[in-house]
This record gives sequence, structure tokens and C-alpha cells, in this order.
Amino acid sequence: MLGGLLIVWLLAGLLRPLHADETRRRLRVPILMYHYISVPPPDADRYRLDLSVTPDQFAAQLAWLRDNGYSAVSLDDVYLALTEGYPLPPRPVVLTFDDGYADAYQHAFRLLREFGMTGTFFVITGWIDAGTPGYLTWAQAREMAAAGMSIQSHSRTHPNLAGADCDYDCLVYQILGSVETLEAELGTRPRFFCYPGGRYDQAVLELLPQVGIVGAVTTHAGTLHVSDRLLEMPRARVRGTTTLDDFAWMVQTWRE
Ligand SMILES: [Zn+2]
Repeated sequence: MLGGLLIVWLLAGLLRPLHADETRRRLRVPILMYHYISVPPPDADRYRLDLSVTPDQFAAQLAWLRDNGYSAVSLDDVYLALTEGYPLPPRPVVLTFDDGYADAYQHAFRLLREFGMTGTFFVITGWIDAGTPGYLTWAQAREMAAAGMSIQSHSRTHPNLAGADCDYDCLVYQILGSVETLEAELGTRPRFFCYPGGRYDQAVLELLPQVGIVGAVTTHAGTLHVSDRLLEMPRARVRGTTTLDDFAWMVQTWRE
């Protein structure tokens, strides 16, 4: 009798619906940060070289992830894990691509599909609107979204959002403007933001939730996330000089 009651009580606990609660959760999930996935042009300066991972390097990294049992998850998955205890696969990793360069479609999307993985692309909506050469088009972004890629906001024109450079009207234009453009172009309202140049301040942190942004990624280095700092998630930067050993260490070992 008592045993039966105990089982009923345990089951009731297990079946209780998950919901956002006050629990402070901490998770280790490497959020990899990429920029260009292409061979840099011959006249590339050191910044471009540093920001460029070649398609061959990227393919080797995806093969390493696959061979070592990693699953590419979305930022929505990480958000739900942190806020509701939603279960993630055993070795989760998020692949993010900043700026929405044309090679995001040409190489990143192509290779992710080849490996059956998904990525999150932070795009600059004003530059797509303007048809800026070297950047994604809306048709490409729609095709990527339809194939399971996540397209999120990296502002309208990539300014420094922190401090006096961008007042309240500028923040609304840059943040809400890009969110509404993405919603109009893709049919889904973005929920994640990436700070241009990694810069933000208190005014930015206060505006994001007001326009429906639930999480944001920074250029702070790290792999650990906490549920009360969803707007300041650190990432693991993959550089042109990152060897496969460096990559394996970042994904597997680095705890910070
Ligand atoms: Zn950027």
C-alpha cells in the first residue's frame, strides 16, 4: 500500500508539466562563433584572415563534431534548457555565424546540410535590404530558414549600440527595426540577438526584452551559461588559426 502510494507520488512528480520557474540553472554548452566561411582573398588584412575559417577547415570541424557524438542544437533549445530544465542531447553544441556574409549560404549552409546539422545566423537586416554585395539575400535567408537554419538579429546597420553613439531612438531603430524586418521577411519573429562588435550597455539590455528578445550572445569568451544571464551568453570563437586540436579542446574541455 505504502509502496503503491510512493510510486504514484513519484510518477506525479515526474509527469508534472515543465514550466519556466525561478530555479537558477547553469549549463555548459559551447556556442561556437564563426564569421567568414571562405578562403580569404589574397589582399586580406589580418582581421579578415583571423575572421575567416576555410570551407575545408569548417568541414573538418563538423566531421570532428559528428565523429565525437556532438549534436548541433538551437539557441531556443539552450533557452528552454536554462529556463525550464528542457533536456538537451548528451553533447550539445551551438554553431553561430555573425554578419550574414554571402559565404554563409555558399559554404556554411551547404556544409551544415551535408552533415545534417543546423546553425544560427545573425544577419544585418539593413545590408540585406540594400542588396549589399558580399552579403546574403532575403531569398537565400528564406531558403536557409525553410531548411531548418535559425536566422536571428544582428541589428540593422551594425553600429556601436553602447553609450552615447546610439540614443534611445537609435536603439529602437536598430533593434526593433531589425526584429520587425526579419519577421516580415521570414514569417517568424526572431528571439535572439547578437551585439554588433560585442558592445552593449544597460539601455540595450533593458530594450531587448521589450521587443521580444529572450536571449543574446556576446563576444565574451566561455562555454558556461546561467539562467539569469540569458542576455549575456559567452561564446567560443573559432579563428582562421584555430587548429583541430584547439577546436577539440574548446568544445570538449574548456570550462569557463
Ligand atoms: Zn558583427
